[in-house]
Amino acid sequence: MSDRRYSAVLLFGMPGSGKGTQGQLLGKLQGIFHLSTGAIFRSLVDDSDDGRLVSDCIRHGQLVADDLTIEIWKHWLDAHIETGDFHPEDQILLLDGIPRTVRQCELLKDHVDVLQVISLSASDTEPIIQRLRQRALIEGRADDADEAVIRNRFEVYRRETTPLLNFYSPALVHEIDPMGTPAEVLKRILEHLIPVIVTARGSAAEFGGDEITPDDAE
Ligand code: AMP
Repeated sequence: MSDRRYSAVLLFGMPGSGKGTQGQLLGKLQGIFHLSTGAIFRSLVDDSDDGRLVSDCIRHGQLVADDLTIEIWKHWLDAHIETGDFHPEDQILLLDGIPRTVRQCELLKDHVDVLQVISLSASDTEPIIQRLRQRALIEGRADDADEAVIRNRFEVYRRETTPLLNFYSPALVHEIDPMGTPAEVLKRILEHLIPVIVTARGSAAEFGGDEITPDDAE
């Protein structure tokens, strides 16, 4: 494992908040490299002990153990650097779905400098539960097919992940309303994210070569 540090923006989101969609949209910007632990874990095959353990957790809406999560995450990060997908000198790391517990925050401190935390959360969860059910039908996601599992994921989020917002300085944390079209939510996020990235990279010109404004979200 390399021990270099990476500049990162954290994307938090309750289940069904559109975190995955936003992560993918943001990951299309040249100055950002998007890494989602949910996507990594879903891509693991069941033919190893780790793979079986992870799919079992996903099926039941439980979190994967912290040390295993960080180990797998770091392994993927290193692999993306080796293949040239992620250029840490030119790109900010957008971490989607990690950290999810205080222990993961502690473990990540050895690897990343957190520039900003974007949190997608709504007070009324019923419209979000409807979103999740629709997605389960379209994508065939096992963790959203069963209402008890959905409710458990909300409970795990409330208990384990919400307290993480207090782990970071309030100046870094931005609560974003996840309701609306993906373009509307993206625009809200970019209003906070662009200044951070421009500052981190020195100028808009270095941020992938093109000047980016929130209007690009539309
Ligand atoms: P997501 O797509 O981010 O909702 O993640 C789907 C599932 O993957 C979660 O319900 C967990 O079972 C697992 N998972 C994703 N990220 C983490 C993490 N950082 N720590 C533990 N489990 C995770």
